[in-house]
Amino acid sequence: MHSSHRCPRPGQASTVSPANEDRPVDAPEPLETTHATNPAATPVSDRRPGAEGGGVPVPVPPSSAPGTPPPSAGGILDAILSAKSELFRGSREVLRDSYVPSRLPHREQQIRSVAEILAPSLRGDLPSNLLIYGKIGTGKTAVVAQVRQDLLKRSELSSHISFVTLNCGNIDTPYSLLQTIANQFAKSEADRIPTGWSLDRVQSGMRRLLDAKGGILLLVLDEVDRLVARSGDNILYTLSQINTELENARVAIIGISNDLKFTNHLDARVRSRLNEEKILFPPYDAMQLQDILRDRAREAFRDGVVDPGVVERCAAYAALENGDARRALALLRLAAEMAERDHAKRITPDHVVKAKNRLEQDIIVDCCRTLPPHCKVLLYAILQSFERRRNGVLTGEVYDSYRKLAERLGLQPLHARSISNYVSELESLGLIRATIVSRGRGGRTREIIVDVPISETMPALEEDPLIAPVGRPKPRGQMLLTNFDNPAGTGPF
Ligand code: ADP
Ligand code: MG
Repeated sequence: MHSSHRCPRPGQASTVSPANEDRPVDAPEPLETTHATNPAATPVSDRRPGAEGGGVPVPVPPSSAPGTPPPSAGGILDAILSAKSELFRGSREVLRDSYVPSRLPHREQQIRSVAEILAPSLRGDLPSNLLIYGKIGTGKTAVVAQVRQDLLKRSELSSHISFVTLNCGNIDTPYSLLQTIANQFAKSEADRIPTGWSLDRVQSGMRRLLDAKGGILLLVLDEVDRLVARSGDNILYTLSQINTELENARVAIIGISNDLKFTNHLDARVRSRLNEEKILFPPYDAMQLQDILRDRAREAFRDGVVDPGVVERCAAYAALENGDARRALALLRLAAEMAERDHAKRITPDHVVKAKNRLEQDIIVDCCRTLPPHCKVLLYAILQSFERRRNGVLTGEVYDSYRKLAERLGLQPLHARSISNYVSELESLGLIRATIVSRGRGGRTREIIVDVPISETMPALEEDPLIAPVGRPKPRGQMLLTNFDNPAGTGPF
């Protein structure tokens, strides 16, 4: 599949709430605040699943040995599962995205840079605003979580520092962003900012609460690109100039963006303020992903159950997919799941191949499922033409096939213009690529190339009741790979 694929990922969708994609579903809020004065500040040694995004520290008994599951409901269930597992050493959470490992190989330089930029706060000086950007799965959230924990370890020196981490992915409006930040500092119910105020009133309420606390607020806006895509950059402007209106407090903003071109969409004033410092997180290469996976595999699995070639293969696949550590971990996790289903005593490279197919199929299925009906028909028409021709298809031909299919399905075909918009949408989802070609005398059209494996996408679409009536007849006994998956989604991952 083409690496620009932006459809939801199954690993994320199943274990992750929309509130915070790095957060397990049972974690309470997409928010994490730690005031250095707060005795509940999570020490680095207590890194564990959920610590990063949950915000409610769960004490880990001192007797906790490595591999002992944490005392959360998930941990208890995991413990029961692991008791029988021949593969897992202890908690399966080690392979989840929310787990912050104690070491982040190949991010030493980024950790150092972030720490250096934030360090002035330890002396009571306001750090520069910082923008961290890089593709998904390049360790941005994990690095900031680690630096945060390291900073707060020095809490006796830094009682004037507050750390608020927000995942903007699920914050709908500028109002709720300000309200959420402000309410971190409310000492009583009466202090809290309710819904329904004017934005100006929320702003002044927030300033009052921040000034009452005083000191330095390190405000991490994770996935800030999503907030801006949704509600524009005014809110960033407001936040970036808040220091001019505060008396006792100062705010430094640490923005994290998965979109490399994020700052291009910002107003020049906001851009220059947020960009005071910038750190790029490059994708990992295959060797780096191997190191990351080996660490996790050592923690997650019993000795000797991971065959040679497993880690290498997961890393190689993920390196092709943008160097995404999240993808690499999802593959390892799924490979283990495949091995368990086979009742295998070891995870083999074949399990990784199965995991990869399953992951790709899930991505495509998820993506196709969410397309609007005519867009599904269009995609199916493109796939059919492409399958016949094994070559690029022109939009005119695609439109004809779409129209015929729509009519056969009893749908009123949309106009060519709407279909042209859908071509662009399918392209932006990474399912197809369309290039402009000249056709003699100034005529221009688009040539479409399919960017997903046809052998997996067509059956996925044919499963859809909308497309099924025009789908190819199924060979007897053919079963979609997803059919043997646990349909209720209640598997161990
Ligand atoms: P991003 O925020 O850039 O999308 P994350 O920080 O969420 O990426 O990382 C995705 C997953 O990969 C997490 O489980 C994280 O712990 C893991 N990960 C990323 N980089 C590293 C690294 N250098 N070492 C170990 N684990 C890593
Ligand atoms: Mg992240």
